[in-house]
Amino acid sequence: RTAVLLFTRDLRVHDNPALAAACRAADRVVPLYVEDPGRRTNENQRAFLLAALDDLRDSLEALGGGLVVRAGDTAAQVAEVREATGADLVVCASDAGRFAASVLERLGGDAELRVAPGPAVVEPGRLLPSGGGDHYKVFTPYWRAWSQARWRETAPEPERLRVPDLPDSHALAPAEPTAADLPPGGERAGLARLDEWAPASGDYADRHDDLAGDRTSRLSPYLALGCLSARELAADPRLPEAMVRQLCWRDFHLQVLAAFPALTDTAYRSGANDVWETDMTALEAWKHGTTGIGIVDAGMRQLLAEGWMHNRARLITAGYLVKTLGLDWRDGAAHFAAHLVDLDEANNWGNWQWTAGTGNDTRPGRGFNHERQAGRFDPDEAYRRRWSLP
Ligand code: FAD
Repeated sequence: RTAVLLFTRDLRVHDNPALAAACRAADRVVPLYVEDPGRRTNENQRAFLLAALDDLRDSLEALGGGLVVRAGDTAAQVAEVREATGADLVVCASDAGRFAASVLERLGGDAELRVAPGPAVVEPGRLLPSGGGDHYKVFTPYWRAWSQARWRETAPEPERLRVPDLPDSHALAPAEPTAADLPPGGERAGLARLDEWAPASGDYADRHDDLAGDRTSRLSPYLALGCLSARELAADPRLPEAMVRQLCWRDFHLQVLAAFPALTDTAYRSGANDVWETDMTALEAWKHGTTGIGIVDAGMRQLLAEGWMHNRARLITAGYLVKTLGLDWRDGAAHFAAHLVDLDEANNWGNWQWTAGTGNDTRPGRGFNHERQAGRFDPDEAYRRRWSLP
């Protein structure tokens, strides 16, 4: 039996449930990645993705296989590859959001479709609130349930892959990143970053908000495209509980997106005030880091330079846009989405809505004092100096 294994946001060979499932179910496996124009991304993330695909191809070749890369509509490409290889099974990982749902709906065609666990530690829908409902709306009870429910099922890495004659790949357009300083993409680079960071992560709980100290893991780009397994990280004894809690936030937003796929454009909280000012000049100044508010400008310039921003700076810059300027969270989220190398639909729009008070924040009316934040998290202005205009 031949299976098409569709890689999506699981660009790795270690702890990959879809890869393990395909190898279990079929004698021959056709590893495939489709760059689909319907998937939200940006040129910084594409640069990272192309490196991750090269790395994945190397790893699959080392196992005796290879990787077919195509561009176009995912379901149509899968159908073509199935026809070329005689595959009657399609295996891929689950995911949340409208794009993933539309792909999964049309993927199998007349073949059998198997959907393996996706990017979460705990699959959306597996934990349900005792009071009813199809997902948790508040983080703290979710964290409580998640911490108890967390389990570990390692997907074995195949010793050898058997592939049929693989059909041709398409040449993907080269990436045109806008950020000069991007991290190296791929599973091996992600594992190396993890091994470098883990032994130094002891002070994460105390220092993760220290803007200039830059003590967070910077694993987010690897998690966003699945170069690392979130399940494996959550069970890694070297990592502090405070960081594992952030992985729970990631799962939390994913289960919200799974239940509410309109998260990217519609206020999640019914009855939320979702009326905003329009001021193109203020919006442009915010985007370019020229508002004149040092801490906001520093964050926005880090985003442009690195395609990444410290979480505390994301909160400050987003809070400034929506709470101080009163501008629409959709515009802020779209700008982040155009630059973030770790762009993740659930995390970006979930956090934007949380900050705007239209999402899951239990205190949606709370203001955001950027000066106080700057004083607390950048007391000696080192972060502001690092990202000041030349
Ligand atoms: P660490 O502190 O080392 O955390 C480890 C991992 O936990 C991260 O890699 C990430 O996967 C997860 N995580 C951490 N904080 C959060 C959080 N608040 N919500 C959900 N998951 C979290 N994260 C993205 O991955 N993609 C996005 O597009 C994104 N957009 C954001 C937009 C706004 C307005 C805000 C406030 C936050 C956003 N985040 C996003 C969450 C967070 O800022 C980043 O995950 C974090 O800064 C990544 O750095 P790190 O890997 O060093 O994090």
